[in-house]
Amino acid sequence: MHIYVGELACCLVSMVEDSLESIVSEANACTKCRLCETRRNAVPGEGSRSAKVVFIGEAPGEKEDDLGRPFVGAAGKLLSELLQSIGFKREEVFITNTVKCRPPNNRPPRKDELAACMNYLDRQLKLIRPRVICPMGNSAIRTLLNQAESVSELHGVPFEKDAIIYFPMYHPAAALYTFALRKVMEEDFKKLKGVFDSLV
Ligand code: URA
Ligand code: SF4
Repeated sequence: MHIYVGELACCLVSMVEDSLESIVSEANACTKCRLCETRRNAVPGEGSRSAKVVFIGEAPGEKEDDLGRPFVGAAGKLLSELLQSIGFKREEVFITNTVKCRPPNNRPPRKDELAACMNYLDRQLKLIRPRVICPMGNSAIRTLLNQAESVSELHGVPFEKDAIIYFPMYHPAAALYTFALRKVMEEDFKKLKGVFDSLV
């Protein structure tokens, strides 16, 4: 049997070509860290594969773990409202988390869990190639940006790194606990819309 070089190349490409779907199936079956032992469902993330803006939270909570979808609880409701306030639909952005499985009792994800899970987020960002990335809250900001400053200093100020605009935000859950932050988040979303509208 002859195998032509073209066929072989094509076959190799299909073997190595990544996709958002394969990330979903891998995360659902993943046992790379201890969070697999207590999760009900992995929560890989959802939205548009051609999203220009990606929102990244910390970790799935109880409702997310139940449904396998990101930001579907109280913080998610606020995120949806904030998106709507600037004319964005959830389906046209991409929403995910730094770790894809819920930590027990919503404790913060540990360093080794973040490290084990980072590969999925890296691959999602490589596939989607967003123009703007919004890490929400200290945990996502630290994981993504290696920044020592906290969200109170960094929120609402865009900066560019490797041709991507980073736009740190408060985590919507913070605005549920501290009502005054809701106004701050509304203002930051308006600024985000300005950044988005200025993209060429
Ligand atoms: N908080 C997060 O950080 N992520 C979710 O998906 C839900 C709540
Ligand atoms: Fe795998 Fe990430 Fe879930 Fe850990 S948190 S089991 S690395 S998908």
